[in-house]
Amino acid sequence: MYINGKKMGEDLEKIEIMNPATNEVIGKVPNGGEKEAEQAIKAAYEAFLTWSETTAYERAAYLKRLNKLIIEHQEELAQTMTMEMGKPIEESKGEVVYGASFLEWYAEEAKRVYGETIPTHISNKRLQVWKKPVGVVAAITPWNFPLAMITRKIAPALAAGCTVIIKPSKESPLTAIKLMELVEKAGIPEGVVNLVTGSSAKIVGQMMENDKVRKITFTGSTEIGKLLIEQSAKQVKRLSLELGGHAPFIILDDANVEKAVDGVLASKFRNGGQTCVCANRIYVQAGIYEQFVNKFSEKVKGLRVGNSLHEEKVDIGPLINEDGVNKVARHVKDAVEKGALIVTGGNRIEGEGTFYEPTVLRDIDPSMIIMQEETFGPVAPIQKIETDEEAVELANSTEYGLAAYVFTESVSRGTKLVEKLDFGIVGWNDGVPSAAQAPFGGMKESGIGREGGHEGMDAFLETQYVSIGLS
Ligand code: NAP
Repeated sequence: MYINGKKMGEDLEKIEIMNPATNEVIGKVPNGGEKEAEQAIKAAYEAFLTWSETTAYERAAYLKRLNKLIIEHQEELAQTMTMEMGKPIEESKGEVVYGASFLEWYAEEAKRVYGETIPTHISNKRLQVWKKPVGVVAAITPWNFPLAMITRKIAPALAAGCTVIIKPSKESPLTAIKLMELVEKAGIPEGVVNLVTGSSAKIVGQMMENDKVRKITFTGSTEIGKLLIEQSAKQVKRLSLELGGHAPFIILDDANVEKAVDGVLASKFRNGGQTCVCANRIYVQAGIYEQFVNKFSEKVKGLRVGNSLHEEKVDIGPLINEDGVNKVARHVKDAVEKGALIVTGGNRIEGEGTFYEPTVLRDIDPSMIIMQEETFGPVAPIQKIETDEEAVELANSTEYGLAAYVFTESVSRGTKLVEKLDFGIVGWNDGVPSAAQAPFGGMKESGIGREGGHEGMDAFLETQYVSIGLS
């Protein structure tokens, strides 16, 4: 843990961190609780008094230094990430670059937090809108992007003048610890960024109880997001939520099939299918259904599963843990019992680690659990559809609204279809839409607010309206 610039928690009981590819213990982190959270909040609160008074140009310089250090330590960060949560090493390197990009972008955006002057209705009054940092921020992050989900929060928070306490997932806190070493190296003042590991209920409980914390920014499941909405009501804490997804991937019969196959591969199998924007339901129009299933399955059969730290050219790593494998197996079993056909895969890979075969299921229908819940694994269920209207209806028939994908070469069909989709992010002929400069977030039960882009900065700013009476 890092509190007020110091490594803490050596005296505490430890939580073991496992490598999901080998089941080996690769590290231990302190099992912190309320007391440590309180210390971190105090440090962040005291640091806020001076950090919030630095200029945007000073803060930008710190962020740029951190960006540079992250890139310089790409290899080491990527190794840690792959060891603790299993994504292939090349993907981990990609996440390091993506994660660092938020620091670069918000270093620039810090300088563009403009207020407003509003035309007055009374001649001796001046009406102004000022922007102020919201205060101490608690950042709670998931295991599936151990670096980028942190930088996506701390970059705009620090740029806005806020101070932060990070609470990473117990599954992948080692990357966060490495990041903190770089925060220290970048010379970011003590207490501006703090890290507490341990019991999420106790740490987050204290964050919710403590009135010095003004903002909670959370990425994780919809289930825990709902719990945080309830808990934050007591003090009306500001809340940003990036929650679960259940992305539809619609392929119309005028799509470029090769491009669509590559789009689904990138969206579905990145991080072993463990991303919030993963294609979870694939809808293909009847005219190209057989062609798509054949071409797509051939490519999936060529994907290599393994431990990328010991094997070459691995496309898919292990799932995060036993629960992850069991959920995937349950979804596949249910689909098969209800009439789906397995084109390839469909089994756990026996031996050490939590590996599951990349799987394609065809003849899917909406009654199957896999078409209703987030699977979080390497399984691609493909349903045949007839019309554009049916695609929209099926896509929107969920409580989730994070990402959706549409593949069509027709501007008219694509525009009409995308306009009707209730999703915060749409990849049109694009399977990988995320970028630091663009707003990322969900409609409906997929969240509240946006990260990335100028919207990402708004989440850490308060609006103060000042009416000045002149003499
Ligand atoms: P999770 O179980 O909801 O955990 C997320 C964070 O909340 C972790 O730090 C976790 O800590 C903490 N947490 C767990 N129980 C808590 C409690 N009772 N009170 C307070 N905090 C608690 O989600 P996950 O399994 O880590 O991540 C996968 C989920 O995240 C998926 O649903 C995925 O779609 C979503 N996700 C969304 C986005 C997005 O941008 N919308 C991005 C990535 C992931 P511990 O792990 O230490 O318990």
